[in-house]
Amino acid sequence: MTETRLTLDEVMDLALAALGAAGADVTNANAIARTMWRAERDGAKSHGLFRAAGYCGAIRSGKANGRAAPTIASQEGAVIRMEGDNGFAPVAHMTGLPALAALAKTQGVAALAIRRCLHYAALWPEVETLTDQGLAAMAFTSSPPYVHMAGGRKRVFGTNPMAFGWPRPGKPPMIFDQASSLTARGEVMIAARDGHEAPQGAGVGPDGAPTTDPKAILSGAQSPFGDYKGAAIALMVDLLAGPLIGELTSLETGEQDVGEGPSIGGQLILAFAPERLGGADALAHGERLFEELLSEPGVRLPGGRRAAERSKTPEEGVLIPTSLYEEIRELT
Ligand code: NDP
Repeated sequence: MTETRLTLDEVMDLALAALGAAGADVTNANAIARTMWRAERDGAKSHGLFRAAGYCGAIRSGKANGRAAPTIASQEGAVIRMEGDNGFAPVAHMTGLPALAALAKTQGVAALAIRRCLHYAALWPEVETLTDQGLAAMAFTSSPPYVHMAGGRKRVFGTNPMAFGWPRPGKPPMIFDQASSLTARGEVMIAARDGHEAPQGAGVGPDGAPTTDPKAILSGAQSPFGDYKGAAIALMVDLLAGPLIGELTSLETGEQDVGEGPSIGGQLILAFAPERLGGADALAHGERLFEELLSEPGVRLPGGRRAAERSKTPEEGVLIPTSLYEEIRELT
């Protein structure tokens, strides 16, 4: 595979040009392009420029609103409710996250419930926007059903990711951001395309029997990580990003939103002010735990890989497959 090296500025310019050509206005294009740019900067390739065609295709087809103007519908107590205007989630975050951070700082804890947005990205960018402001944060979104319940074989849950972040003064935050399926859907699709086996435990065939045949998994169901424990997380995410905020469950998304690519739905984001809950020592207390964990050889914190990449890419730029580069150039 031949690769093309781009500076981070070139990544941004390419993403902006593709989104603009697809019909996104400047605000939408900037918010979405910056999300892909952050992923490329951090070596999170699956949510970088690889997603450009999906974003642009959804805007061109009218499935996503490239001129979305998300609004805060209400703010009562510690809850902010937003209408995403059928745009991509990063556009809603531009208004929603500053409001959420301000509320969490006064209330100690606050929730942002975004309805009618398409989440086609990783969750760590919004969590990190909050940890950068000294807040702990969690984020949840669901997607069309690909994953079975423990003991079942039917597709009932999306790959339903969740993320949790903890601020570390003067250091990159600790952020984990993970799907509740054992493997990403894209990984199973790539295995099917390339004729490889899927990892053990990745899914079941249409008969419900565990298999490593990726084609059987694609026509059957992916498995949650950790059997019933991961299934419980997938269930929780489905409820938090669905019924709790007046949005769709994964099953309902599957009924109303066919096909691959960005799916309709919502997002719940929670923010916590450590000093309001645990007192002035809360973050220092967390640091003592991290110090203990990191004293063991072979241990790193979640988010550490991205932070290491981020220290290199401003100088070195990023490598993307030349075929991907050409595909995006054709979109501009
Ligand atoms: P991974 O399994 O690659 O990583 C999950 C987390 O584990 C990351 O925070 C990672 O940190 C951390 N981690 C990995 N290895 C270690 C280690 N050895 N020690 C400590 N921490 C470690 O992620 P997934 O494949 O589950 O998910 C990938 C992405 O896909 C996520 O960003 C998720 O939000 C996104 N997604 C989005 C969906 C949507 O609908 N929008 C649907 C499903 C997934 P690090 O990054 O530092 O390696």
